[in-house]
Amino acid sequence: MNQANISPISAGVRCVCPKCGEGALFQGYLKLADECECCGLDYRYEDAGDGPASVVILLVGILVVFPALLVEVAFKPPLWVHIVLWLPLATILTLAVLRPFKAFWFALMYRNNVVQGRTGSAGPTDDQS
Ligand SMILES: [Zn+2]
Repeated sequence: MNQANISPISAGVRCVCPKCGEGALFQGYLKLADECECCGLDYRYEDAGDGPASVVILLVGILVVFPALLVEVAFKPPLWVHIVLWLPLATILTLAVLRPFKAFWFALMYRNNVVQGRTGSAGPTDDQS
């Protein structure tokens, strides 16, 4: 399959290899496999750092804090209502979004040929040596 046919969004949502769109990207919840089981793409060059987690924290924060503020202003519920509502929601949203977002981030890095400590725009390549 041509790598240009796989969008980073599709690879992210399905958590698959950004090159072939077939192989599994993760071997654990957030731990990447060493390489693609289908096309052999080396995943070890990936170093997203805290990028995906930072963005997910910001997005989930927006999705949770604004409704919490609206509920507080509109109904003035006791504190335990906020804890029961928003803490599980924030946890569930974070866990649900972080994995596909990390896969999306990885696919963007692959598509834009981002390798730590190197600049250039030669396009995606398998040669990471
Ligand atoms: Zn692959």
